[in-house]
Amino acid sequence: MAKAAKGKPEACDLLVRNAHVLTMDKKRTIIPDGAVAVTGRNIVAVGRDQDLARRFRPHRTIDAGGAPVHPGYIDLHYHATVHIISKLITDAPAGSRDAGPWVAQRYTRFHNVADDEDDYAAALLCGLEMALNGFTAVMDPGTAFEPDILAEAMEAVGMRATVADAYLMDFKGPQLSNIKRTPVSRKRAFGELGKQLWRNRDPHALVRGHVGIYGMGSQTVELTEAAKELADKNKVPFTMHQSMCIDDAEFDERRFGRSAFVHWQEKDLLGPNCVFVHMNVLRDDDIAPIVESGMTTVWVPGNSLFYGTRSEVPNRIPEIYRKGGNVAFGIDVCKTWTFGHNTLLAYYIGREEGQYLSAGDLLEIQTIKGARAMGLEKSIGSLETGKRADIVIRTNAAPQLHPIFEIEKRVALQSLTGSVDTVMVDGRIIVRHGRHTLLDENVVYERAKRSAENLLRKADL
Ligand SMILES: [Zn+2]
Repeated sequence: MAKAAKGKPEACDLLVRNAHVLTMDKKRTIIPDGAVAVTGRNIVAVGRDQDLARRFRPHRTIDAGGAPVHPGYIDLHYHATVHIISKLITDAPAGSRDAGPWVAQRYTRFHNVADDEDDYAAALLCGLEMALNGFTAVMDPGTAFEPDILAEAMEAVGMRATVADAYLMDFKGPQLSNIKRTPVSRKRAFGELGKQLWRNRDPHALVRGHVGIYGMGSQTVELTEAAKELADKNKVPFTMHQSMCIDDAEFDERRFGRSAFVHWQEKDLLGPNCVFVHMNVLRDDDIAPIVESGMTTVWVPGNSLFYGTRSEVPNRIPEIYRKGGNVAFGIDVCKTWTFGHNTLLAYYIGREEGQYLSAGDLLEIQTIKGARAMGLEKSIGSLETGKRADIVIRTNAAPQLHPIFEIEKRVALQSLTGSVDTVMVDGRIIVRHGRHTLLDENVVYERAKRSAENLLRKADL
């Protein structure tokens, strides 16, 4: 809380007033009559409206009208350059036991015809969609053929992102191993590992780099060890896919002779900077290594529902969260869900698994836990003095938010991201009154339409 003013008011760039502030600090402090002061890139005070109004002389004021104000949402797994492709994969009933291979084949087909313009159009549309839904940071898992193209799009949107090199695989796994631009190759995988880390030299870079390999049966233990070691040395996250569907989980179990996380623990490959994605298919003995290592489980709740893995094995991620494991959200790709749906999908999975997650838990997973997974918990993920100003201001002109009571539930489960009015990243306003301030939205849509037509023609599906 801000101290009461003494003497002359201080200058600040922006004062967000009349805000129902969900700080997402350690105590999940909520300030119903709150305000947030911003100068440059940083939050300089969070507190009661009357205190901050007395203390500051702002250059600009935004009146939130009593609406919720919270940290930007953080997504730990989005294949940004696949955004348009994911929307072109035809929906199909879940006929077989495992739809994973079928979907992967479709992706491979589109991947093999996509060019740089398709990737840029996809990343730009994705960034725009995320920003308008109150997302301020995203981790791309390392599937952009040209990370520079992805970085350029995210910078145009004004969003934070972290990137890695594309599809690093040195072992023929069960999925996506036939992509022409990224052949399965030991030489390529080891050669490109960590090539995006140069981005971290600038402490203010919006787009950073991490170490990523594709995973999910497509890597040797040796490549996994090299990736983890490099990530440790550079103090960055190490990410890969793991145990998404029955086919890849069983593939790993067969080759390791035990469940995946028991194997990774024995190889000393788990630690707080590990950000492993999916983990829908876990065995009993996987749980302790996951929780004890301090690693992050990136949860894509739509996938376990879409692929029907819960008819084979329970989803253990709500349990991992409740046992103290770090859990963050990822959208992965927009199959039949999109940005802002995760909190609701996860809520119902938690209930069905008998592992209740409150709206506050889900907001934590969507914000501060995501920041921790990105290695940025000191600078983003909550509204606290000294952190970067990555802020979402809702509008109260949204019936789903009313009555303003049990505010976390209204935000996380009922208005979802439909009431986002203003979004700030690093102190810069990128969305105001629901419109992007830097991009011409219609140009982005036109570009996406052209790319979709080209992709469908080229893929000839
Ligand atoms: Zn993925």
